[in-house]
Amino acid sequence: MVPKLDVRRANAEKKYAGDLSFTFEADPSLVEIPLVCISSPVEANLHYEILEDDSVEIEGSLAFTLKGSCSRCLKETEQRVCGKAEGYFVPHGADEEDYSYSNGVIDFGEFLRDSLIFLMPARLVCSETCAAPEYKEE
Ligand SMILES: [Zn+2]
Repeated sequence: MVPKLDVRRANAEKKYAGDLSFTFEADPSLVEIPLVCISSPVEANLHYEILEDDSVEIEGSLAFTLKGSCSRCLKETEQRVCGKAEGYFVPHGADEEDYSYSNGVIDFGEFLRDSLIFLMPARLVCSETCAAPEYKEE
């Protein structure tokens, strides 16, 4: 389950920073590699910081496992993918680089989706031989 961050409540409780750790099921359509899927829930560890103007900085990491056929030789394989996730949320409207939130509550859905797309490798490979760019197919 993806938690929401209640910025108003956090402010009222003077919890201006904190950590969120959770797992969630990724949308299968995020994986564009043929015959590959995310085999386990995505693990998210995020740190938030609420700034004086109520904008919120999020940074942390996401980790997940890709499973399926090697993009080169089709052998069954798995790959662990880990990477950073960063976002900046502003209350009411945002320019294109930022996320906006309304009613004092941040929904991480779009941010997590974008972060996963960013971390997603272009292909899944089973070995260094298959990963090597100089490998030539006959
Ligand atoms: Zn392979």
